[in-house]
Amino acid sequence: MDRFDLVKESFEKKAVAAEMPQGKPSDYFGELVFDRNKMHRYLDANTLAALLDCIDNGKALDRKTADGVARGIKEWALEHHVTHVTHWFQPLTDTTAEKHDSLIEYDRKGGVIESFDGRSLAQQEPDASSFPNGGIRATFEARGYTAWDPTSPVFIQDDTLCIPTIFISYTGEALDYKTPLKRSIKAVSDAALPICRLFDPSASKVLVYLGWEQEYFLVDEALYAARPDLMITGRTLMGHSSSKNQQLDDHYFGSIPSRVAEFMRDLELAGHRLGIPIKTRHNEVAPNQFELAPIYGEANLANDQNLMVMNLMTKIARKHGFVVLFHEKPFDGVNGSGKHNNWSLGTDSGTQLLAPGKSPMGNLQFITFFVNVLAAVQRHNALLKASIASATNAHRLGANEAPPAIVSAFLGKTMTDVLRKLLTVPSDTAIEIAGKKGTSLELVEIPEIFVDNTDRNRTSPFAFTGNRFEFRAVGSSANCAGALTTLNAAVAEQLLDFKEKLDMELAAGKALNIAVMDTLKPLIASVIDVICFDGNGYTEEWRHEAERRGLDTETSVPEMIKVFSRPESVAMFKRTGVFTESELNARNEVKWETYSKKVQIESRVLVRMAINHIIPAAVSYKSLLLKELAANKEVFGNLDGCATELALVQKVNAYVEKIDDLAREMKEARKRANAIESEYEKAVAYHGIAESFNGIRQPIDKLEEIVDNRLWPLPKYRELLFIS
Ligand code: ADP
Ligand code: MG
Repeated sequence: MDRFDLVKESFEKKAVAAEMPQGKPSDYFGELVFDRNKMHRYLDANTLAALLDCIDNGKALDRKTADGVARGIKEWALEHHVTHVTHWFQPLTDTTAEKHDSLIEYDRKGGVIESFDGRSLAQQEPDASSFPNGGIRATFEARGYTAWDPTSPVFIQDDTLCIPTIFISYTGEALDYKTPLKRSIKAVSDAALPICRLFDPSASKVLVYLGWEQEYFLVDEALYAARPDLMITGRTLMGHSSSKNQQLDDHYFGSIPSRVAEFMRDLELAGHRLGIPIKTRHNEVAPNQFELAPIYGEANLANDQNLMVMNLMTKIARKHGFVVLFHEKPFDGVNGSGKHNNWSLGTDSGTQLLAPGKSPMGNLQFITFFVNVLAAVQRHNALLKASIASATNAHRLGANEAPPAIVSAFLGKTMTDVLRKLLTVPSDTAIEIAGKKGTSLELVEIPEIFVDNTDRNRTSPFAFTGNRFEFRAVGSSANCAGALTTLNAAVAEQLLDFKEKLDMELAAGKALNIAVMDTLKPLIASVIDVICFDGNGYTEEWRHEAERRGLDTETSVPEMIKVFSRPESVAMFKRTGVFTESELNARNEVKWETYSKKVQIESRVLVRMAINHIIPAAVSYKSLLLKELAANKEVFGNLDGCATELALVQKVNAYVEKIDDLAREMKEARKRANAIESEYEKAVAYHGIAESFNGIRQPIDKLEEIVDNRLWPLPKYRELLFIS
């Protein structure tokens, strides 16, 4: 089948009807999750009370409770025709991991029974050495184990009971994303609570919220399968841009193509049955790019749900003849995909800490958290960038896409004015709700709600959007936990410092509002001048200005990763109990290694495609031209009128030679890089190789422009991006 058959077949594919839901969303929402409703139905009173104590108060799960819970879960699972069970965890790879065990056990009477007890619920022992561990396994204990995280409910996928777990070594080091995320949530909660209680003594817990927005591309599966680069690396390593791509802005929020709409309906149904509150779906800016967002929720669960959704998307897309691409930059020249992390803090008594309050004291509490978040982001701007840095997200960083390679915060005019004003008024000035007292120069006012969010700045990596911050630099393929863990820990550290200073002011006998304002003022003065930036984050002037302000402007991913081992980072993670130094070092090893491997794989694919696909196509075209020239010569005795063909032959020759030379050089560079022992230095070498991809790509894309369309072996951008 040649490219034209593939394209025709893909184009003619009809939409596959989505599954019809049974009833309304509220009827089936969460039916495949062992949530609180099910706990009440399937657990006895003692077990239920003990389990809720684990979930709500962090108590450890004892064996007796685990057995009781397992009994209830088993009864529920069998009603749903479950045959297998797995611990579902988040190793330091791009995906989740699961190893399925059947529920059967011999019954000693020659048959089998279904068996599931507290032990299998609570713990499993996957081989830690088969997952990235950065040497932790070698230095400490060989085995790792997974343990149920009762704050993430058990769920059913197909015939399998999935138990969300943490994954740690026997000596307690985290080998996954979930463990540090949970530690960081605890850290920020513990640090924030004493401050909240000064304002509202009824608060007994601070919660971290996450609302993720998942961007992705869909590509027809037949065209995908004809592109080795997409299949192996998740992105196109070559491809001339299509004559039209996103310049007419006609895809964003456009009507959803019917094949895609059916996919989305299936996805939403599956998500809702799993208790994932999927809310929003729309076309994104680039052709064949889409977005999905749920209603926000508690960060640990919301992050599990993001990973569940990514798994669902991969599976469900195939039913509709698509492959879903999570890569941050699958196509050159059109937007890449991110995963905005909408992040906020709130108390169990119902206060949103990053939204204006109902009274001057409530507003002061809001300003307190608002400014401390900014101060944390300022202090650890390099680290926050490192937390989203990866070989794949590198293509968005600094490439005029949502994250510039500089972390700054966007406040909007209202909040910037409020902060500036606070610096000029006496510390006991009340922060009023706008419009309640009329306006005067002495008043500090904020709106009750930020209705107009239109001035939000799309070039900012960390933007305030009315009741939350939106960390927009996170990559679409990433586990959000990487970014969230760092953000939470940084904010926790900052809040601890703030509380210490505040306590000194209070000890000096100041009233709470004055003490808070006096502690905040130096922070406000500092963040306003350094981290806050409302201008265009993509410009060269900003890069210079950011350098002047002392913000990190590094663009090389291996260098960014290094920030995790800086003394101030190690101290911060240690103080907040989120990472030990050895965990940080191990993770850096994993990150560098992953970076090198990804670039290595891409580089191999690039070179092989250049040699096996591109050069042969170019040579076929050349021989076609040469035959034509020979025929001319034979008939007319000269080459008059053949200037175009002659020029084309020369161009083909030049491009082919260039590709061949550069491919050889790249292979040599790989050999040199592979011989390097240190993971950091190897990653630096691979960074150099990554920088040279465009050198090979350019002549390939030039060839695509001139080679006879019939001879081009790969689906082109116009086909990949416009068939849906
Ligand atoms: P936009 O694309 O305009 O940023 P979306 O509606 O696509 O907006 O996504 C906004 C996300 O932010 C949703 O997941 C929403 O639930 C979430 N969100 C709203 N309020 C909060 C909050 N206080 N904390 C965390 N996330 C929030
Ligand atoms: Mg958003």
